[in-house]
Amino acid sequence: LAHWITEFVTSVEDGRPKTAAPGRYADRFGGQLVLVTGAGSGIGRTTALAFAEAGARVLAVDRDGRAAARTAEEARRRGAAAAWARTADVSDEQAMERLAERVTAEHGVVDVLVNNAGIGLGGSFFDTTPKEWKEVLDVNLWGVIHGCRLFGRRMAERGQGGHIVNVASAAAFQPSRSLPAYGTSKAAVLMLSECLRAELAGRGIGVTAVCPGFVNTAITSTARFAGADAEEERRLRKRAARLYGLRDYPPEKVAAAILRAVVRNEAVVPVTPEARTAYALSRWMPGA
Ligand code: NAD
Repeated sequence: LAHWITEFVTSVEDGRPKTAAPGRYADRFGGQLVLVTGAGSGIGRTTALAFAEAGARVLAVDRDGRAAARTAEEARRRGAAAAWARTADVSDEQAMERLAERVTAEHGVVDVLVNNAGIGLGGSFFDTTPKEWKEVLDVNLWGVIHGCRLFGRRMAERGQGGHIVNVASAAAFQPSRSLPAYGTSKAAVLMLSECLRAELAGRGIGVTAVCPGFVNTAITSTARFAGADAEEERRLRKRAARLYGLRDYPPEKVAAAILRAVVRNEAVVPVTPEARTAYALSRWMPGA
């Protein structure tokens, strides 16, 4: 059944996510100001570089300033109209306010915001301490809320449209005993995105929730994510591989899906094959 649903979902889609082939969106984002959080590594880095190849002016934001600087440098090399690095912790409201003020004063209103920064956290419900719950919600949920409030409001006031991409996860609709805090944070990001999309629709601002499954980045190999319950993670991967043909999925494909979602103004984008199947099951067969 899962195989059939995957095939069906894929066949009614316009196509599978493509790799971010240079030139695919050549100059599609020419001159637009694109801000990506968590741009120092993984999905955020490849997304910032894909926008650079599409001619955007790129703002790479990360709490690791040196990593953000490396991304900005590579973005310039790849043809960005301009690229800058900024250091900020997305969970810090004051820091995000300072960032929004500085960016607006120096570069103008952001056209595309990608709220991507996130942390992984594994462990069963009872193994997860209140401090860990707070940390994962502070970064994964509050980071997105701060970004949407501060940059989304400026987009709306400017009145020239724009787009917000929030990077959620298949964990938002795929319950797992090893990821209760992480999954909860991502489910909240998904709902937030759908509510905000409805609110901003009349103002020409699109909102997309992008939901990848397993992607090859640092987050899935850190002890906090996989190591906390390595056995459960292995079991999940094995099951996903058997059911959905899980393959190693490169972050470049997620970046391509993000650019495509902005161009097409898509609402919810489950990216990897197992994410698409899990999303279809959760929508069509509640409780499955
Ligand atoms: P990653 O660890 O490679 O990159 C995350 C980046 O975010 C790092 O550069 C890190 O420094 C930065 N960051 C973390 N906390 C921050 C904070 N408070 N403020 C600013 N920057 C911060 O991980 P990734 O896989 O590229 O993850 C990117 C997003 O994709 C996350 O939101 C993650 O939850 C989501 N995601 C990843 C996967 C996956 O399998 N890799 C699957 C689904 C969703």
